[in-house]
Amino acid sequence: MIRTKVPYIDMRAVQAHYQPALSDAVLRTVASGQYINGPAQRQFEEHFAAYCGVNFCVGVGNGLDALTLILLSMKQLYEWPADAEVIVPAFTFIASVEAISRAGLTPVLVDTVAGGATLDSHQLPAKISPRTRAILAVHLYGDVCAMPAIRAIADAHHLKVIEDAAQAHGALMDGARAGALGDAAAFSFYPGKNLGALGDGGAVLTDDEALALRVRALANYGSVRKYEHQWLGINSRLDEMQAAILDCKLPLLDADNAHRQRIARLYLEGVHNPLLRTLDYQYPDGCVHHVFPVLTPCRDELQRYLSEQGVDTLVHYPIPVHHQPAYRALANESFPNAETMAASELSLPISQVQDEGTTLHIIDILNQFHHAND
Ligand SMILES: *Cc1c(COP(=O)(O)O)cnc(C)c1O
Repeated sequence: MIRTKVPYIDMRAVQAHYQPALSDAVLRTVASGQYINGPAQRQFEEHFAAYCGVNFCVGVGNGLDALTLILLSMKQLYEWPADAEVIVPAFTFIASVEAISRAGLTPVLVDTVAGGATLDSHQLPAKISPRTRAILAVHLYGDVCAMPAIRAIADAHHLKVIEDAAQAHGALMDGARAGALGDAAAFSFYPGKNLGALGDGGAVLTDDEALALRVRALANYGSVRKYEHQWLGINSRLDEMQAAILDCKLPLLDADNAHRQRIARLYLEGVHNPLLRTLDYQYPDGCVHHVFPVLTPCRDELQRYLSEQGVDTLVHYPIPVHHQPAYRALANESFPNAETMAASELSLPISQVQDEGTTLHIIDILNQFHHAND
């Protein structure tokens, strides 16, 4: 019997899903003669800001830059001291934390909720010091953080709330979109994200005009007027090609996310195996399932078994922040929930193009999984 090979994500099928409009957008950009800082960037910024329900969107080069530029801008505008601290979850993609370091600020880690992917707001007060200036809330896997609780704690201590929404394009909390739930939000348009470019891209969203202007200036060599440099900035651009591609895909984002939610529902209803459990979601109805994790004490064994059955999986993420060699300075604390996630998480295939039959096939295989010696 020839087994169906199931890739983690079929990027060729993903691009085909947007054709022919996608290639038309590329060809139009090639013919336009404008490749940097042009009308496609401005149009996408307008459309994405309106989609998320915020006043300002600034296109930048990638998600790490989006986070870094928010932090650099806040540091300047609000005159944060050199030893200012930003609280960030111990379980996230490294960019969330690296942005804090790159902005010359100090990351302070907080654990995630048990069995979930987002930071535990109950543990925030113990992490707040006189140097704390912001909380970086990561909507990991597409599940929105407990924002009302985070906001209340932030307000009580005069802290800014920044969203890392790189995995949460279109996610909802009580009818409001990720990207509109804090003081500023960072998005990545890395190709595999729910809204992905065909290369690198990112965006900063905010309702704060002064912050948006500072981010735009710092992303452009610290310049507002050409060849006049007010601040030391960087070069981080959303180019015309990527902007045109994103603008072509944005109208399909809600339908794409609804598809991911259908796939997730099949997994949630179909997987019955005492060795596996699924995530505890903060906002299950608004989650956009960038990643669909199962948690199991025999993760490596399960990954090997699925691979033998032709199903590719990934681990998001195998090492929590405080165990990363680059962050050995943070290694003296322990974060049990983050450590458990890193040891037990396995990401099942999911995308806007994965069909129901493939998903049911994966569920069958999962339900037959047992220990090798059982
Ligand atoms: C992808 C991602 C980023 C970084 O985005 P890049 O565009 O790759 O720089 C940041 N945070 C999270 C949670 C991500 O998943």
